[in-house]
Amino acid sequence: METIVLSVVVPMYNEEAVVPALVARLRPVLDGLGVPYEVVAVDDGSADRTAALLLQHGRAWPELRLLKLRRNSGHQAALTAGLHRSRGDWVVSIDADLQDPPETIAEMLALARERHLDVVYGVRADRSTDTPFKRYTAGAYYRLMRRLIGGDVPAQAGDFRLLSREAVDVLKVLPERTPVYRLLVPSLGFTSGSVPYVREQRAAGETKYPLRKMVALAWDSAADFSAAPLRIATWLGALTFLACLALTAFGIVVWANGTVIPGWTSLFLAVLLLAAVQLICYELGDVTPPR
Ligand code: UDP
Ligand code: MG
Repeated sequence: METIVLSVVVPMYNEEAVVPALVARLRPVLDGLGVPYEVVAVDDGSADRTAALLLQHGRAWPELRLLKLRRNSGHQAALTAGLHRSRGDWVVSIDADLQDPPETIAEMLALARERHLDVVYGVRADRSTDTPFKRYTAGAYYRLMRRLIGGDVPAQAGDFRLLSREAVDVLKVLPERTPVYRLLVPSLGFTSGSVPYVREQRAAGETKYPLRKMVALAWDSAADFSAAPLRIATWLGALTFLACLALTAFGIVVWANGTVIPGWTSLFLAVLLLAAVQLICYELGDVTPPR
């Protein structure tokens, strides 16, 4: 079998409206590269005709492969599945809705080959086509991540990027259950470069990222990359312990006055004390090395 030079992973959730436009624009770009390639379209448990349309287009486009997830598992999980099934020496991940211009793939590949880079980020030079709400929430996300994690969070780098086979193989063996690639990839220290691009308008259909999914992404990001959520547990533990001390004092006063249900004070205090100890020890149990 001839070796595949480039794999293009495209996560898709209910994207039936953009499939024709995607195929029409992506295919000439990839055919024009002059190297063997494959497209790994990951159907993230769509409820519409995304998978059927992909199969239909695949009949006339042998490089198009369909990977079908049984249920909607989220953008990052779809990327994970795609990375695991990709076979190319290089792997590009790109959104299905043509907000990431496919033409940029050629630039990414050329840059990676020329400079022997493991990672090339597509960096949004212009987001003016995004809604103000999207720009505001995205800005808040990157600010929060930089506060929690520190300096090396590349701003405006989403999931449009190229990875070398070596980088993909490293990502595949990491133990993360909910990888957030835009944070995970920079944290690995591979040589990298970037290609600016102008974010385009969604070609068709609606965003598949409602607020609920954005919050889930932010939560996974914080939980994977920062000890802040664990510290919340420690502070809760400290507060519970203080409440326990106050109630001990209160309990002694009430007991001295003889108006108490037998056993209640000791039982209640034991419960509170144990809760405090557990919350405080929660952070001590985290053995993840600092990044
Ligand atoms: N996506 C996915 N699973 C999901 C949500 C989104 O695979 O549960 C895909 C979606 O089909 C698209 C990409 O992730 O290819 C980015 O989603 P979208 O363009 O809707 O996000 P936005 O650009 O609005 O942030
Ligand atoms: Mg989009």
